Amino acid sequence: MGAIAAGLQACHERIEKACAQAGRASSSVRLLAVSKTFPARAIRDAWQAGQRAFGESYLQEALDKMVDLADLGAEWHFIGPIQSNKTRPIATHFDWVHGIDRLKVAQRLSEARPPASPPLQVLIQVNVSGESSKSGIAPGEALALDLARAVRTLPHLCLRGFMTIPRPSPDLAVQRAQFRVLADLLAQARLAGMDLDTLSMGMSDDLEAAILEGTTLVRVGTAIFGARTYP
Ligand SMILES: *Cc1c(COP(=O)(O)O)cnc(C)c1O
Repeated sequence: MGAIAAGLQACHERIEKACAQAGRASSSVRLLAVSKTFPARAIRDAWQAGQRAFGESYLQEALDKMVDLADLGAEWHFIGPIQSNKTRPIATHFDWVHGIDRLKVAQRLSEARPPASPPLQVLIQVNVSGESSKSGIAPGEALALDLARAVRTLPHLCLRGFMTIPRPSPDLAVQRAQFRVLADLLAQARLAGMDLDTLSMGMSDDLEAAILEGTTLVRVGTAIFGARTYP
């Protein structure tokens, strides 16, 4: 077995174990393989090992790989910060966008989504750690719910839920507390009548904590593809 297939298998085992501990079905957690900085052939190896959804953070790098990999029909998630002058290529080439943090960007993505494509699946990014350097809307519930309501009115987007990148911590309790903020927000949105089903939280170092707090999509790079030479 190649290194990437082995990384994927180890990841699925971690997901299954954490799901068992949380009393959840392992099918309730999707694995997004974060392939940023890795070449197209690494994605092809992961595809051959059964992986179908890939996350990219750098637009031009992603577009170049998509050309090489057009034959696969992979599901592409844009997980990087969104510059408002890049909304058209993002809306054209991706299936999902995780980093919506202001209405303007959501409006531009909706306007730029090709009408023949299915709605772009989107997540609102929430800054659960309150770090000013990180992108994402502040977790104050009212603001996040207002943004969610507004995004739900846009015709070519489908709001699926929330995403977060918490401050890294080695402490499971701290990891869980940060993820719980996002899980609570999803619960509030549902109580307010929004039919959202996705929590994008958990990465290589904290996916167990995210699973214990109800994540439905873990974004894993290093544990599948190995260490990156740039972020
Ligand atoms: C790079 C990245 C990941 C993957 O991180 P790992 O620690 O390598 O698993 C997940 N989410 C986002 C938004 C990223 O930018």
